[in-house]
Amino acid sequence: MNRTESLKSCYRYKVVALFLSVVASVYSVFVNAHDDASSLGPIVTAPKATTSISSPAEIDWLPNDLYVSNVDGLFDEEAPADASSPVGSGSLEPFIVPFSPFYQRVRLTPPSEVIRKDKVKSREQLPRISIIIDDLGYNRRGMESSLNLPVEVALAILPHTPFGKKTALKSIEQNRVTLLHAPMENQRELKLGPGGLYASMGEEEFKSVLRDDLASLPGIKGVNNHMGSLLTTDSQAMNWVMQVIGDRSLFFVDSVTSADSVAYTMALRHSINTTKRDVFLDNIRSEKKIEQQFLKLIQLAHQNGHAIAIGHPYPETMAYLSKRLADLSKLSVRLVPIDELMGQ
Ligand SMILES: [Zn+2]
Repeated sequence: MNRTESLKSCYRYKVVALFLSVVASVYSVFVNAHDDASSLGPIVTAPKATTSISSPAEIDWLPNDLYVSNVDGLFDEEAPADASSPVGSGSLEPFIVPFSPFYQRVRLTPPSEVIRKDKVKSREQLPRISIIIDDLGYNRRGMESSLNLPVEVALAILPHTPFGKKTALKSIEQNRVTLLHAPMENQRELKLGPGGLYASMGEEEFKSVLRDDLASLPGIKGVNNHMGSLLTTDSQAMNWVMQVIGDRSLFFVDSVTSADSVAYTMALRHSINTTKRDVFLDNIRSEKKIEQQFLKLIQLAHQNGHAIAIGHPYPETMAYLSKRLADLSKLSVRLVPIDELMGQ
């Protein structure tokens, strides 16, 4: 290659490099425009949440954060607080979707903006929140820390567990609402532990297992589902569940671990007092994420008048709630027992 050819070749490379850098710049401007909260335009209040919020477009709270597909989450198919216990096969990390500029973004109104309007309300008029702590029964630490939360917080206890009965008895002493956290078959084949309900069971066996679960814990006022992403989509199984709990005048809370759950609808059909979960607090066990979820609970309560959260007896959740629930006055909401929100 002579000097002229060499210069030509060099020039061609420069042209290609220049072209690529222009393409990169245009892409970067596009991405940044979507990544900049100021480009969102006027604040769009999230649609009234009647069920769980599940699309990435609806869960964005903080700019430049990761979208987490199930923060709100369809998956409560969690490991119990004690990882050594037989239920679950380890902590399920939520499926994290990296930031993409192609998601439509909806910015929720920060609680402070909603709350200002509510300052004049009397305590009785304040939006109500209710919290259930799931997965109790496997260890002493979970029992003690959850029993130290305000008595309005309900406890959902797994049947036939080492500390289940003791947790239920102490809960009765405190006049606290307790639920049977009924283990139901999930789509991931995670172990349910004792008292599990499976779609393959016949009616007699199914109802007998559920009745035994209920009988194993004193003072139960209602039922919610542990896992259940498969079973709660099964109309026949939910029909049997509602027949059993209807006979005992218990209430039912759909934990909503599947978008296709028919549990709530089936409970209504059986004229059972029922409601469903709005927010999971701790699918990600960090104070920052728990705070985000808690603020979302407050936001939904201000939008809809009430909202329900489910958490777990993780040290992070217990530490956060004991601090946060000690003073709710600044958030202008009222913590109420779960049985006050039936049929809302
Ligand atoms: Zn559970």
